[in-house]
Amino acid sequence: MSVLMKGIDVANAMKEELTKETELLKRGGVMPCLAIIRAGSREEDLSYERGAKKRMEAVGIKCQVRELPWDITQREFEEAFREVNDNPSVHGILMFRPLPKHLDEEPVRKMIHPAKDMDCMSDVNIAKVFAGDETGYAPCTAEAVMKMLKFYGIDLKGKNTTVVGRSMVVGKPLSMMLLKENATVTICHTRTVDLPKICRSADILIAAAGKAKMITADMVGEGAVVADVGINVDEEGNLCGDVDFERAKKKASYISPVPRGVGSITTSVLAEHVIRAAKNLH
Ligand code: NDP
Repeated sequence: MSVLMKGIDVANAMKEELTKETELLKRGGVMPCLAIIRAGSREEDLSYERGAKKRMEAVGIKCQVRELPWDITQREFEEAFREVNDNPSVHGILMFRPLPKHLDEEPVRKMIHPAKDMDCMSDVNIAKVFAGDETGYAPCTAEAVMKMLKFYGIDLKGKNTTVVGRSMVVGKPLSMMLLKENATVTICHTRTVDLPKICRSADILIAAAGKAKMITADMVGEGAVVADVGINVDEEGNLCGDVDFERAKKKASYISPVPRGVGSITTSVLAEHVIRAAKNLH
């Protein structure tokens, strides 16, 4: 029988500490504040935004949304972004990506104050993750995986850890964070030869490919720890991860579900970042 790694349990364990921290800040006259910048109304953005607002409220963080039209011009977008970026009462910024295709993200990535960059857009924060410097802000999802593994007492030191996916949002930064904890990390991608074999040999397998149920049970080693970052829709229209959960859970020692796994921790990590930013900025 495998242990189910439930995101909600990790998030609940973080909640008490986060609430205490915001209370302390408020007593010192600081209202921690997150600004969300959203262009248009993509359903996945709105859904994440609802979750983020709820989480911020639950721990006492103010959350404001700057909603911009999908067809906004580059100049207008940059102006709006600059306003939020320079607002001293805003401690952290989360901008939904990708931006509409006609907008160039680069100037915005360069503009954001690294101290307010809650989801690792800026080069400064990316470099810190790669350097193993924890004073920056790692991507919330990558950090959520680390929180989950820590909460469930998974020892990473020297373990064969395979990450499937090498994006700058999840796979690469997560691999660096695992390496910092002394895991022996293998990063896989679409050109990897014999992915099943590499996955099977992993003590810890992390799926972040964005392909529904591509990690089949035969790719999971007996007793492996399996964390699933993927968010996909299966043939029946249901949310599912990258792992064939029902079959893989029979082999794994620990496994995270989708939904209610890693995705349930990301907004708590976001809240933790905002609190740290508010502390640092004051
Ligand atoms: P990307 O599409 O940017 O990257 C996917 C990565 O997986 C690429 O490196 C790609 O390889 C690799 N990959 C894709 N298919 C295969 C395959 N068949 N075999 C091996 N490698 C493969 O996705 P993201 O990193 O942005 O997201 C990954 C998943 O995580 C998605 O399902 C996304 O929805 C989810 N996600 C979840 C979040 C959460 O809060 N839980 C937040 C962010 C993302 P290559 O580089 O060669 O193309």
